[in-house]
Amino acid sequence: MKDAGDQNPAPLMAAWNTDSQVHLIIGSNSLAGARCAKSIEVGAKPIIIAPETADMHFTLSQHIANGSAQWVNREFQDTDLRVLGREEVDHVVDLVFVTVGASNPLSAHVSKLCKRLRIPVNVSDAPDLCSFTLLSTYTDGPLHIGITTSGRGCKLASRLRREIAAFLPQHLGSAIDRLGAVRKRLWEEDQAAESGEAAFDAEDDDTTGQKHTFNNLITEGDAAAAKTRRIRWLSQICEYWPLRKLVSITDADMETILNAYTATKNPTNDTNGVEPAKKGKIVLAGSGPGHPDLLTRATYHAIHNADLILADKLVPAPVLDLIPRRTEVHIARKFPGNADQAQEEFLQMGLAALQQGRQVLRLKQGDPYLYGRGAEEFEFFRNEGYSPVVLPGITSAMSASLFADIPATHRGVSDQVLICTGTGRKGAAPNPPTYVPTQTVVFLMALHRLSALIDSLTTFPEGSEQSRTLWPKETPCAIVERASCPDQRVIRSTLEHVCLAFEEAGSRPPGLLVVGASCHVLHNPQGQRWAIEEGFHALDGLHGELEVVADLAEKA
Ligand code: SAH
Repeated sequence: MKDAGDQNPAPLMAAWNTDSQVHLIIGSNSLAGARCAKSIEVGAKPIIIAPETADMHFTLSQHIANGSAQWVNREFQDTDLRVLGREEVDHVVDLVFVTVGASNPLSAHVSKLCKRLRIPVNVSDAPDLCSFTLLSTYTDGPLHIGITTSGRGCKLASRLRREIAAFLPQHLGSAIDRLGAVRKRLWEEDQAAESGEAAFDAEDDDTTGQKHTFNNLITEGDAAAAKTRRIRWLSQICEYWPLRKLVSITDADMETILNAYTATKNPTNDTNGVEPAKKGKIVLAGSGPGHPDLLTRATYHAIHNADLILADKLVPAPVLDLIPRRTEVHIARKFPGNADQAQEEFLQMGLAALQQGRQVLRLKQGDPYLYGRGAEEFEFFRNEGYSPVVLPGITSAMSASLFADIPATHRGVSDQVLICTGTGRKGAAPNPPTYVPTQTVVFLMALHRLSALIDSLTTFPEGSEQSRTLWPKETPCAIVERASCPDQRVIRSTLEHVCLAFEEAGSRPPGLLVVGASCHVLHNPQGQRWAIEEGFHALDGLHGELEVVADLAEKA
């Protein structure tokens, strides 16, 4: 992870297969001993290059004596890098550890040579000379956890490793082995019934565990359906079972799991492999203003249970990241001028999936019934015989003002709230609301025509009927953009100055305008024409990374 003051990019953390590699260790001190032990542990063959001295570390002497390490008793020579390696890689060594100290000129020399030959090199105490550093690791069977503090504190890294390890239940490693076996057997079972499916581990990359492939159509057919069913089955276990239950899986449990899976595959056992017809279901849900913690649990579960997710363009990336990678996802291709067409395309896609008996989730930004065309979609699907389950979402209209410290109502200041749009049907300007001194007004979809909107609130167009009260120019207001996202921005001002402030700051969509005395209850840019606040910190510290691990352990 990068912090704000860190200029370096994040390192690529990876798990290398170093079985049978040749690792060169230059030096013979205690660090060389540790590197040598590490190389042996990861299946490599270490070669130590160091002239004989009295203080060769005793572990090195042991490894040399028992044959697990080889010793070249002399100073390093440049050609060592190209001749001591394995035959199949033309004798170039696979990895180099230099342990003679950063100030020894040999360190910089070897580092340069290695980098030129693309040989990964690690020089102790010289981060600039390293192309890789080792992680502080915790290992339990197939489970390996690695930590780096990017050279800021190796003691702290090992403390963190210990604390994280302490939170994990015992025997997690063997549970992972067992689950791996279950997974393989499920696959084999499906494989016996189908053919033509991609290899088992084709997409089996730990990093993609929380991701998904956008707009990647899963072609219909038995193989794909089985794969989806299998993955869902496994994720039910891997994601929802408490860790403590997971680690206590026995062979008997494994059989039960497998039998239950077979039962769900062929519920009546007399269908001759033909899936019984089931009725599709649709959920219409709101995803909140942006931050994934602002999802409801109901929507979170709907995300995990859907076969097909149709998401609005505005649904923020961190929410989309929660979608299991197997789930088919489409993002609305809405852009000015084709909104109706994109909407129609989505409705048809949803309907087709429902007719195939699939679970569809229509995911909308904020709340589905607040400027989200939610009810139109409800009607469409109901007319087709599929009444949606509708789940509310936290609307940006209320949460953006809250995260900007604007109380929508406040005793003695504001006793009512009006939510309106700045854009009418087909882009026409809607009628501006009349001035009510105790009202907080929230305008969505308004910032692209901010100055026309402010004009309409504060002045009458020439020759128009003067049937409403105008808003005084000194009325407080605020623009809140990307509420609950890391780049949230609040511009506090008055109707008089807000247009200039917005012009100077530039827009950062999506955003909305809040107008009314409540805007200055908690923050008042006294004397200033406007004030700008950057960033979203409201949820900071609610759960740090370690607390997440603690949480997991507690649930287990
Ligand atoms: N159904 C949504 C609103 C859809 S209309 C809801 O309940 O929030 C889209 C408008 O919502 C945008 O033009 C913008 O005015 C507002 N909006 C959506 N997300 C926002 C956010 N994170 N911060 C500020 N405004 C937002």
